[in-house]
Amino acid sequence: MRVAAPHETVQLLVRSGLPLGIACQCCQHRTVLKYTLLGVHEGDRRQLCRLPLICRCGRRNIDLIVLETPDDEPAFLSGEILGIARRPASSF
Ligand SMILES: [Zn+2]
Repeated sequence: MRVAAPHETVQLLVRSGLPLGIACQCCQHRTVLKYTLLGVHEGDRRQLCRLPLICRCGRRNIDLIVLETPDDEPAFLSGEILGIARRPASSF
């Protein structure tokens, strides 16, 4: 697994079928979300960093982790759940 590069788009998730790892820099909560739960669809070209994600602690200082094999998911997880901000990405 690795930190997502700034130029990478959500197509990465669509192609791999693996969830995105999300880690809060403030409270250390982490979770994984499948692209279907992120509102991503085929043909979506948004950059990963444009996804409207917010931790349940209220912060947006979030690390996005690209999982590269199915084994990365249990390795990444600690069981805590992050929330998704229900607002358009343009508010970022
Ligand atoms: Zn947090």
